[in-house]
Amino acid sequence: MLTNVSPINADSLRVAKSILEKGGVVAFPTETVYGLGADARLDSAVEEIYKIKGRPSDNPLIVHVHRDYDLSLLISDEQPYVKKLREAFLPGPLTLVYRGKNAVSKKVSCGLDTLAIRVPAHDGAQEFLRSVDMPIAAPSANISKHISPVSAEHVLEDLGGRIPLILDGGRCSGGIESTVCDVTGEIPVVLRSGLISMEMIADVVGRCDTYIPKAGEQVRSPGMKYKHYAPKCSTLLFEFNQLDEALLEFRRLLEQGKRVLILCEKEIGYLFPKESVLNLGATETEMAANLYQLLHEGEKRADVLIGIVPKKHDGIMAGVINRLSKACAGE
Ligand code: AMP
Ligand code: MG
Repeated sequence: MLTNVSPINADSLRVAKSILEKGGVVAFPTETVYGLGADARLDSAVEEIYKIKGRPSDNPLIVHVHRDYDLSLLISDEQPYVKKLREAFLPGPLTLVYRGKNAVSKKVSCGLDTLAIRVPAHDGAQEFLRSVDMPIAAPSANISKHISPVSAEHVLEDLGGRIPLILDGGRCSGGIESTVCDVTGEIPVVLRSGLISMEMIADVVGRCDTYIPKAGEQVRSPGMKYKHYAPKCSTLLFEFNQLDEALLEFRRLLEQGKRVLILCEKEIGYLFPKESVLNLGATETEMAANLYQLLHEGEKRADVLIGIVPKKHDGIMAGVINRLSKACAGE
């Protein structure tokens, strides 16, 4: 199959719509990462997403809709605080998990009675969702477990030849996947951290919990149990307070003739030779925006990529560190 990469315009949107109406899939940009979208109402189209990505069949998908989409078509009742969250953060990088209404394929939520819905802020994503005017089930547009794509080139590298169309909206500005927040209970619960932090949600609603699976319990956000975001090269991960160990390991690997790159925040980059540093940046939004781009660069240039966990852990950094740890340390 030939994969077309096209800017978002009237022609490419017409092609996208006709592919989706036939049960096919299309990659599209959002402000977090690129998505691999299909009509959420069609079993066969949703199945196609799992097949193309090699995604485990118990890892549910997020449904994407445009900002004026009537949510009552998809969800039943909701808690009173949910409206406040939508007003504060949507469109934006926050996925809300509601009680579903069986309006989309059962394969979207993998048998759960809930439905995750996102309204992306990216202009191109909005144009795309508005022009197709259907609920679009979409995970990240990468082969399962590989680094999420933050440019059309990244999508092409993973899915070229497997999908007919990539809508190219440039580099994603946010850089890590949306926050996933369960709003079915009296208190919102963050299932996956992201650019809308738990603290930001608590500021609006008054309270917010973070989900920590108990031993033996069925995981509430199945996606979080899988290895993820992994580069193709070898990886190592050091905590911020293990800088001495990181330096020793760096020198040892160089002596073995390995190509080694260090992925770290700006503040500690000076400890390593300049040409060996992939600079995450200084602020939390910079680090989120740069993480996947640098992991993609790193896997191409290094035999071993050494990640160093940034110093700050709260706010958006909870999401950045979650992704960095899964990328560099596996499970
Ligand atoms: P991805 O599409 O790869 O960004 O992954 C979507 C994330 O949303 C995964 O972590 C899923 O487990 C989570 N998710 C999707 N639908 C639901 C749902 N109904 N309940 C809980 N988590 C969900
Ligand atoms: Mg993903």
